Amino acid sequence: MNDNKNLALHNSYLTLPKCFYERIEPTPVSDPTLIYFNENLAKKLNLEFLCYDKSLITNYFSGNKLPDNCKSLSQAYAGHQFGNFTMLGDGRAILLGEQIDIHDNLYDIQLKGSGRTSYSRGGDGRATLSSMLREYIMSESMYHLNIPTTRSLAVINSGESVYRESHNQGGVLTRIASSHIRVGTFEYGKHFCTKNDFKKFIDYVINRHFPDLLNEKLAYLELIRLIMRNQIDLIVNWNRVGFIHGVMNTDNMSISGETIDYGPCAFINDYNPNTTFSSIDHNGRYAFGNQHKIAYWNLTVFAGTLLDYIDNDKNRAIELVQDILNQFPIQYSIKWHDMMFKKLGIETPIDEDKNLIEKLLSLMQNHKADYTNTFAALTLNKSNNDSLSESDGFMDWKNKWKQRIKNNENSYKIMQRNNPLYIPRNYLIESALTNCVNGNNKEFDGLLKIMSETYNYELDNHELQISPDGFDDHYKTFCGT
Ligand code: AMP
Ligand code: MG
Repeated sequence: MNDNKNLALHNSYLTLPKCFYERIEPTPVSDPTLIYFNENLAKKLNLEFLCYDKSLITNYFSGNKLPDNCKSLSQAYAGHQFGNFTMLGDGRAILLGEQIDIHDNLYDIQLKGSGRTSYSRGGDGRATLSSMLREYIMSESMYHLNIPTTRSLAVINSGESVYRESHNQGGVLTRIASSHIRVGTFEYGKHFCTKNDFKKFIDYVINRHFPDLLNEKLAYLELIRLIMRNQIDLIVNWNRVGFIHGVMNTDNMSISGETIDYGPCAFINDYNPNTTFSSIDHNGRYAFGNQHKIAYWNLTVFAGTLLDYIDNDKNRAIELVQDILNQFPIQYSIKWHDMMFKKLGIETPIDEDKNLIEKLLSLMQNHKADYTNTFAALTLNKSNNDSLSESDGFMDWKNKWKQRIKNNENSYKIMQRNNPLYIPRNYLIESALTNCVNGNNKEFDGLLKIMSETYNYELDNHELQISPDGFDDHYKTFCGT
């Protein structure tokens, strides 16, 4: 246990060649107020001492005071945005340093909305309070849904105005991540650094995230395999709870396998794989049912950055990498089915059970059934009063399904662990954010509380969440606000 009363951060990123970052400090804000501080997370991060000093929290996490010996930086990265390659980097984020948590794991502590950097291009380096609160609630929800994610330690109202088509309250978020290394960081290394510097970076990533590979002869090849495994697990998990990331550009895909960059994300309500909420995703590139295809695309880009280090013979390197990438659709399909079997409580699946999944999803889509509530109702063994439940097709399906699980207690236990009761619904999020920005945290607190109990089937007050009619039909989400 570290009982140090200072925020004595580590700086492993500074051991990298200088092309990978810029040393820079946050730009102070004029009148910071603490809106949220995540005490549970602070304790997990060995930062309990902060819980008792509100003014220190406010100063540190607004960027107005740097911890002693802090060597803050912004990271360079590039990326494919909607398929187009661009130089990017932390345009509005600054890494304060790294902290060792109670389990001896290293975590980045990063401020988001902390001022301009040399990667800001035309941007102001700032964020709206509303979008930082949105990231707070979304990432904490994902954490409670048991999905790998970056987390949120604090949200500060900067006391400054941020202009996004109109004046908005400004905010700073403190983001905690296993690291902020992205597929786009590899693309940056390949395209903008020397071969030698890029190799140092790859070795840093192996050392930090995949130390078991250090003694592997084919470490770089294995790196692709592991990152692919983690991405598949992540996307399967997103599918389990109906999460749409919304902007799966390669710069928004974390090497650690955590969900990162909560911009235009949202959860689906009515089941439809074509669902997209992002205002700029006109062709549905990042639609709910496309996410595994995009992850595959992103992984191909990632693997491409490593070819030079895998074999001197380029054709041989391509062949080796291709063998791994070819496994993606096969592994994804196995893991996706396995996840869906768990949602249906099927303990020992047989091939025919795949028809049960397909049939249910097709009925849900035809009847515009709510994804979360349908599975929650099955888990609660009660009927959901909707057009799906009243249809002959569903009754027939349900009989077949019941024959498969035979009211086995264990089946219901598996379902309880895999089917959340609650998601942060769009209408709840919007209302909670509007109120919170205006100084009323009640709804936001309420949403955080129910999300922390999303698998708690022990409570007997679980009302299924009902969205107001039509609310989600026109709902739009936005990037970079
Ligand atoms: P995002 O859409 O949040 O993934 O951001 C894409 C890129 O735009 C990243 O390089 C960000 O750092 C940058 N960016 C987004 N918003 C701003 C802003 N307000 N000021 C400067 N850079 C920004
Ligand atoms: Mg991003």
